[in-house]
Amino acid sequence: MKTSFLPRLVNGQTGDPALFVDLLRYKRALLFDCGALTALSPSEILRVTDLFVSHAHIDHFIGFDHLLRLHLGRGRRVRVYGPKGITACVHGKLSGYTWNLVRRQRLVFEAIEFDGLKQLATEFHCRQKFRRGETRKLPGSDILLEDELVSVRTAILDHRIPSLAFAVSERDFYNIDPVKLKACGLEPGPWLNDLKNWVRRGRRPGETIEVAGQSRNPAELADQLLIVSPGRTLAYAADALGSKKNIDKIVCLAHGADILFCEGAFLHEDKARAKETYHLTAHQAGQLARAASVKRLVVFHFSPKYEGRFAELDEEAQQAFTSFANDETDGGDAG
Ligand SMILES: [Zn+2]
Ligand SMILES: [Zn+2]
Repeated sequence: MKTSFLPRLVNGQTGDPALFVDLLRYKRALLFDCGALTALSPSEILRVTDLFVSHAHIDHFIGFDHLLRLHLGRGRRVRVYGPKGITACVHGKLSGYTWNLVRRQRLVFEAIEFDGLKQLATEFHCRQKFRRGETRKLPGSDILLEDELVSVRTAILDHRIPSLAFAVSERDFYNIDPVKLKACGLEPGPWLNDLKNWVRRGRRPGETIEVAGQSRNPAELADQLLIVSPGRTLAYAADALGSKKNIDKIVCLAHGADILFCEGAFLHEDKARAKETYHLTAHQAGQLARAASVKRLVVFHFSPKYEGRFAELDEEAQQAFTSFANDETDGGDAG
């Protein structure tokens, strides 16, 4: 499949959670969670336009300072999405430094928090010493980001605190069928991009495009000439209790994804400990990935207590993911 997504767990399956999704060809990247980022190069961190934080436990948010340090002086806008309270966490980070010499710097952080009913957006401008700006209320959709390249949806999981899971979908790809173009007798030109853009913008009726000095109906041309290749979908679920409610939400969000990155902190033999700490077991991650019919599962966030036994967590998850015997799920713990 043609794709511009290149996902990578920054610290592998065992270190702090951080999923770097490089949007190849666009000099842009998305970051899901922000644990230690020292394994990323400065140029990779500078490509991050949107940071999605599942929750602000230190292992998911400690890398924010590193990202801040590198983006300083670049005049960019970085959006930080997270659960209720993320604005105060971003503000807290930014308030921890002295900003008396940065009047000309144009870096802006925009915190966007989602509580299930509404999204609240708050800006922090470097040239205003990162003082907390006015908060704007956005429509309460579970779609956090939607632009010409990607859309990102979220679901709120229970980790004793809200923990957001995310699904990021790449826009479909449009190519011109060269044989059909030739058969139509039309010359290639900038109108082909106009045609693709019209489809990307949602095929608005009533619009026309200019082809060789004539107004043409883009719907007819699109149906005739465009080859559509579906984009890729990735899902990311970090810390969450293995409850039926959480599992159902992840299954729904991740359904049909090309890759699901899912935490599986504990072996199932330690499911009592997993429940106590509001985490999933590797077995539960495998079962829910199977129920979601994802194409591939990557488990991560292994507890350090399994040092020397990490392969067992991976095996347990993959076995539950691929084994037909596990179709009869044990449903996790209620709550
Ligand atoms: Zn946590
Ligand atoms: Zn964690």
